Amino acid sequence: MKVGVLAVQGDFAEHIAVLKRLGVDTAEVRLPRDLEGVEALIMPGGESTTISYLMDLYDLKGPIKEMAGMGVPIWGTCAGMIMMARELTDKEPTPMGLMDILVTRNAFGRQIDSFEADLEIKNLGHEAFRAVFIRAPVIFDVGQGVDVLAHLPDGKPVAVQQRNLLATAFHPELSPDTRLHQYFLNLK
Ligand code: GLN
Repeated sequence: MKVGVLAVQGDFAEHIAVLKRLGVDTAEVRLPRDLEGVEALIMPGGESTTISYLMDLYDLKGPIKEMAGMGVPIWGTCAGMIMMARELTDKEPTPMGLMDILVTRNAFGRQIDSFEADLEIKNLGHEAFRAVFIRAPVIFDVGQGVDVLAHLPDGKPVAVQQRNLLATAFHPELSPDTRLHQYFLNLK
């Protein structure tokens, strides 16, 4: 199986390292032609305005939307989740509208810009998942077809799935725990 990781900006190298540990082939995606033969795609964390700008520059949004519609598993983490959203409460960037979620960027305020939390994630068993949040976005609203896989103690959803599409507000590629990457590979 070949998994593409969007590699225009952000922490794509960390995702690739996890995927390699799990024994799958990887491809760094910078141009539409890099998507050839890719059976699942991860959009990493980083700076969503920069990622969006570069995706427009290289004409990546169209082909990725098409893949999403064809049932290819796509997973956005943090800035990648921002790109997956139907709508943002922020002016920028323009998200890709792949998942029926309403998202706000940098939603945790300055003091807790970054934090870790133990999450119970649906379908991953009872063992807590140590999740790393870095200037994380928050999901304010989810549509009917969206399954909430995990939320913070205050009820905010931080991991959601809609058919072949997955989004997490945190950075699973920065935890030693590979269960979410494995779960994503099984969406194939
Ligand atoms: N704050 C970033 C943004 O709004 C996302 C942060 C991240 O990906 N860790 O794009």
